[in-house]
Amino acid sequence: MDMKYCMECGSALAKKDIDGTERLACTACSFVHWGNYSIGVGALVVRDDKVLLVRRAIEPGKGKWTNPGGYIEQLEPIEDTIVREVYEESGIRAKVQEIIAVRDLPTNVHNVYIAFRMDYVEGEPVPDRVEADAAGFFSLEEMRMMPVATFTEWLVDIAMTPRKEGLFADKQPVASFGGFGYAVGKVGASCR
Ligand SMILES: [Zn+2]
Repeated sequence: MDMKYCMECGSALAKKDIDGTERLACTACSFVHWGNYSIGVGALVVRDDKVLLVRRAIEPGKGKWTNPGGYIEQLEPIEDTIVREVYEESGIRAKVQEIIAVRDLPTNVHNVYIAFRMDYVEGEPVPDRVEADAAGFFSLEEMRMMPVATFTEWLVDIAMTPRKEGLFADKQPVASFGGFGYAVGKVGASCR
């Protein structure tokens, strides 16, 4: 459904030509509705060649095993979000190692999903009993006998397959640009 009113000032929106593309724009202020987007983050927490999975207690995908994750918050760095989501869903403390995959899903809400490989720090898996009703570390062999979500299957394969390095947090960027940067295989850059 199209938006009718401006999110900034509440005035009516109207179709306008913005740099050659017709978009909904405010008739009173400079607000432009660029589109609907969402950003998800997911964790592949590895301990002794096993990956942390949770079993979804709610739809969509109820009963399927997935990697923990969630949607980002407005003012929270994504590294903090994924650490928090893993702890909330499974009781496991883990720290970010690298970004290993990005999924692009351009639908009516255009979703981008960023997958992190994370190192186990401490704790034993306990489901939150809200989003997840079971949690544990599983080997690839064990996963073959479990209903694992196809997207998680893809991510687990990437996390467990030896390869070149992924995107690491750049702790010493050559220039300060505001925000957090991740760079391809920058050796020596370590995450929090
Ligand atoms: Zn407006």
